[in-house]
Amino acid sequence: MSEITAKIKEAMKRFRYEAKTVSIAHLPEVQEAVGELVRQGLVSKLLYEKWHFYLDTNKDLPEAKTIVIVAIPQPFTRMQFEWQGTVYPAEIAPGRITRADESHVEEILNNMLRVGRYKVVRAHLALKTLAVQSGLAKYGRNNISYVPGMGSFLRLIAFYTDSPCEEDNWQEVEAMKDCENCSLCREKCPTGSIPDDRFLIHAENCLGSLNEREPDFPYWVQYQPDWQNALIGCMLCQSVCPVNKPYLKNIVAGPQFSEEETGLILNRTPWDKLPQETRQKLEFAERNYPPLSSNLSALIEKQKKTRQR
Ligand code: SF4
Ligand code: SF4
Repeated sequence: MSEITAKIKEAMKRFRYEAKTVSIAHLPEVQEAVGELVRQGLVSKLLYEKWHFYLDTNKDLPEAKTIVIVAIPQPFTRMQFEWQGTVYPAEIAPGRITRADESHVEEILNNMLRVGRYKVVRAHLALKTLAVQSGLAKYGRNNISYVPGMGSFLRLIAFYTDSPCEEDNWQEVEAMKDCENCSLCREKCPTGSIPDDRFLIHAENCLGSLNEREPDFPYWVQYQPDWQNALIGCMLCQSVCPVNKPYLKNIVAGPQFSEEETGLILNRTPWDKLPQETRQKLEFAERNYPPLSSNLSALIEKQKKTRQR
């Protein structure tokens, strides 16, 4: 292993991050991997709209020689919402509260590469594709990337650098061996989004996509409030996965919301009309705020029913 690559990996490991490098020569392949999905109509509308953005993501460092992809382990965050005299917990899927970790990874890379006067800039790419093709991660049947020592509870982040690529880890996509004789995620998925013939889910039906992006659930989800299981995202196929078992108890306490704040969210108060303090607590959800009200409402209703039983 080269000196720079070894130092980057060592520095990352100190914080339980994992990193891999690939040559910039593979950039068209990363772009093409998403392009093929876009052309086949196998990706969400949102990704389709972003597609051209992916194509010129290296414009801030056109002389880049290496892509670095990093996995950061992530806990669940459990928030508390007070409503009508009761406190309701609501979890956020790992990977949503991230900014501090991402800046930290960038700082580590800058410190490592500054010595050689190399530059580092963020790479906005198809991160899962990059992770599995660099050997950093493997696909689960649920089309989620798994990294040894983290399960699927992680966040990916990528960078371009003009330092030479001393270790090109590009490889064929691999699926986890654990999936060979397992289909628990497919059985648990309430929307039938996990097919048994390919490692690509039906993203258009996945609750994780629907409850992050749409202000209201489509009618066929509204009839199934019991499906809701997280404030943002859906955790069912990851929670049931045996590979994730060691990491399920990794939960950190998030902010608590008063009766008044919960009411404001449930009543769909526009983001800029929320008190400053509430906006700060909801910083993680700024881009996902519109769907938060229906997600929270479904979670509270579900818990009310369970407590009445
Ligand atoms: S639940 Fe089973 S099939 Fe699904 S990702 Fe986990 S190991 Fe693979
Ligand atoms: S996130 Fe939820 S809806 Fe999406 S595939 Fe997994 S279990 Fe199914």
